[in-house]
Formats: sequence, C-alpha cells, structure tokens
Amino acid sequence: MNSTDLTGIGMTSQRTRERLIQRLQEQGISNQKVLDVIRMLPRHIFLDEALSHRAYEDTALPIGFSQTISQPYIVALMTELLLSRGVREKVLEVGTGCGYQAAILAQLVPHVYTVERIKPLLVKAREKFRRLGLRNIVSAHSDGAVGWAQYAPYDGIISTAAPARVPEELLQQLAPDGLLVIPVGPEGDQELRLIQRVGDSSKFVEEVITRVRFVPLLSGVAR
Ligand code: SAH
Repeated sequence: MNSTDLTGIGMTSQRTRERLIQRLQEQGISNQKVLDVIRMLPRHIFLDEALSHRAYEDTALPIGFSQTISQPYIVALMTELLLSRGVREKVLEVGTGCGYQAAILAQLVPHVYTVERIKPLLVKAREKFRRLGLRNIVSAHSDGAVGWAQYAPYDGIISTAAPARVPEELLQQLAPDGLLVIPVGPEGDQELRLIQRVGDSSKFVEEVITRVRFVPLLSGVAR
C-alpha cells in the first residue's frame, strides 16, 4: 500500500465518497462527527483490489471466509447509536472482520477493543490499523460470544455478528449505564437492538431499532 491508496482512488473517488455521505444523511444519520470520520476514512483499502471500485457503494461486500464488510449505513447507524447517550471511553467490538468498523470507532472513542474468531482476517485488519496509524485499538483472536473479560467493563459494546439470543457475558461486561448495540435473531432476519444497563444495577432497558441482516455469531475460534 502506498500513500495514494490512503488518499483515494483517483479524482472520482472524492465525489463518490461525498455521494455516500449525502446518502447516509438522507437515510437519517445526523451525527456530524460520525459522518466526518466516514468521509475521511478510505473504505477501499479494506477490500480486495477486485472489489475496491465498489468501496463507496452503500452495500455490504465479501471479504473472504464467507464474511462481509458491513454496509456503510449500518456502520454509521450502529456508531451513532453507540454515541447517542454521552461519551464512551472504552468500547468493545465483537467481530473485527476487515477492521473497518473498528477503524471508525478508533477515531471517535479513546479506547477500542476488538475480537475476531478467524485468524487471517484479524492479521489483515491489524495491518490496516498500523498503516492508518491507529494506535488505540487492542485486538485479539478469540471468541467474542463471551466478550473480553480481561478489559471489562466497557462503556459500550458493538457486535457486528448476530447471535440467536443476547449473550449474558456481553450484558455482564457493560459498565454502569453502558450501551450494547447488537443484531439478534435467526440468519438473514435479525433486529438491531440498543440495550442499556440501568445505572449499576443488573437491569437493562431495550429498544428495537430496525431489521437487519448480519452474518451469524459463531462459537469458538477458527484458524
Ligand atoms: N466489523 C466488520 C464486520 C465483520 S462481519 C466490519 O467492519 O466490516 C462479522 C465478523 O464477526 C466476521 O469476521 C466473523 O468472523 C466474526 N465473528 C463471528 N462470530 C464471532 C465470535 N464469536 N467472536 C469473534 N468474532 C466473530
């Protein structure tokens, strides 16, 4: 990767990126900081060259190992939800994938933790974080269905893979008033939920945001 890769893929890409931001705004994304970070972060570097010309379309795209880079609208929505109730110091992401969502988060919150169960994806994502100079992301090859107890509690948790039911461990690892943004349900038809711990109690309030399609949250790690 050279410096051109980080700045854009030619004159057209700036316009294409601007169109994407416009589209996100039309769809209701209003957090200016979120929009600015999405505008500035090159998405094409997270994709294989054969697909990089489609990087600024508002669509999920394959990243290998039957996984996908999330649709920009969904990344924007989940990030906006996570930041909707005040500052989040420390955030855990379950499902690093290519690293795009983590790279967005790293520019909006001080400390990002992210876990991925497919080793080669994590290795590639770490390379992207290095190239982008993002030093506030701590990552691990592990099963995020059980969260990441070592650094818990978290002010926010984002899951970019969908479990059938919300894992108890993720709820337990939320700090007081912590927020969990997570797709829940069977493959191909899930609801995106925003769950907040009530103070430091073991009570949680839950809101269903919209219907979504995510890859499933699987247990255990792969090589
Ligand atoms: N966050 C990514 C989206 C990746 S898709 C982005 O920004 O585009 C979801 C990812 O979750 C996949 O890479 C998948 O391997 C991973 N995943 C699924 N179950 C997991 C688990 N139990 N622990 C960690 N990662 C998991």
